[in-house]
Amino acid sequence: MIKPLSHRTESFTESVIREMTRISDSMNGINLSQGFPDFNASEEIKRAAIRAIKNNFNQYPVTFGESELREAISKKAWRYNKIRCNPDTDITVTCGATEAMLSTLMAIINPGDEIIIFEPFYENYIPDGILSGATPRFVSLHPPHWHYDSKELSKAFNRKTKAIIINTPNNPTGKVFSKTELTEISQLCHKWNSFAITDEIYEHILYDGEQHVSIASLPGMEDRTITLNSVSKTYSVTGWRVGWAIASAKITKRIRKVHDFMTVGAPTAFQHATATALAFPDVYYKKLQRQYENARKFLYDTLVENGFNPYIPKGAYYMMTDIKQLATRLKSCNDLDFSKKLIEKTRVATVPGFSFFHQKNKKSNLVRFAFCKKMETLQKVKNHLNRLLTSAY
Ligand code: GLN
Repeated sequence: MIKPLSHRTESFTESVIREMTRISDSMNGINLSQGFPDFNASEEIKRAAIRAIKNNFNQYPVTFGESELREAISKKAWRYNKIRCNPDTDITVTCGATEAMLSTLMAIINPGDEIIIFEPFYENYIPDGILSGATPRFVSLHPPHWHYDSKELSKAFNRKTKAIIINTPNNPTGKVFSKTELTEISQLCHKWNSFAITDEIYEHILYDGEQHVSIASLPGMEDRTITLNSVSKTYSVTGWRVGWAIASAKITKRIRKVHDFMTVGAPTAFQHATATALAFPDVYYKKLQRQYENARKFLYDTLVENGFNPYIPKGAYYMMTDIKQLATRLKSCNDLDFSKKLIEKTRVATVPGFSFFHQKNKKSNLVRFAFCKKMETLQKVKNHLNRLLTSAY
């Protein structure tokens, strides 16, 4: 009999997103569960990575990031996010935004500290909280527009609140936090002397004229915000594992130490290629938006035509949909069962909504579809879902 494993990680549940991907792969399914593109990254970014390897960027990087990349991040953060940051002191390059979030929490949390998380949330934030020792408090986002209740938000803050986690554009809801909302959040951060940790990896994937606002650009927030981002989503290279955290020098110093001991550094060659990507001209981002706009419309129409009730996202590349009506038809009692039946009957893999809520025993009426896929893939999804309509389940 071996000694007990860590109590801290005992309550970890398996990632439902990754589990659905495994089920999908084993059934040769169409994976609309995990949010990664199935189309190719641009030739230019791929060439930049090959060039970096050929130029012998194959050893450890500067632990907190190659200077070429930190320069590029700083320029882009000013150009796009209106965030001023010094590449020498205010940026840490990490293994994806995933590590940026964990390193940040490890760097700032003490026992007894609380973090506020909007719910539904991206599932990693819970294990991140557990690993760092933070106690989460949840504030609901309400469909169809995923607004929060100001009273509930201000009630969640107290003197133990170390930080609030914001993810805009939001996974899984597609909500884009407005300047008014972010101003309200920033006022609460000032009032309670709390940090804002903002995950902005979908910042370029916006619809219907929505504008991305970084809370770090709001008055007085530069010293209390940690802005997280990554190369993964904007440049369709989720396997490169290059992300970063922007924060004041004092916070950055601490994040860099955690990061150094945890991972040493993010892949060197991909850091150099990321620097090339960050200098892409505006047309690159416009084209990306157009492509996602089309995918969003196609999936929305497909879901409606097949009896789902989807919520139209304002940003990011996920669509949450209500399944109440269809669940009755599929004789499924909850979202997990529904997702499993759906993949069995149509080979289309989704993520059951409960995984985005903290009460895992409570099932939801929601399912998430990722639409960062080729039109050809989405067309296949349409054909397969149409079978639901015509069959007698
Ligand atoms: N962010 C993506 C999603 O929500 C991928 C998650 C992951 O597997 N790291 O699907």
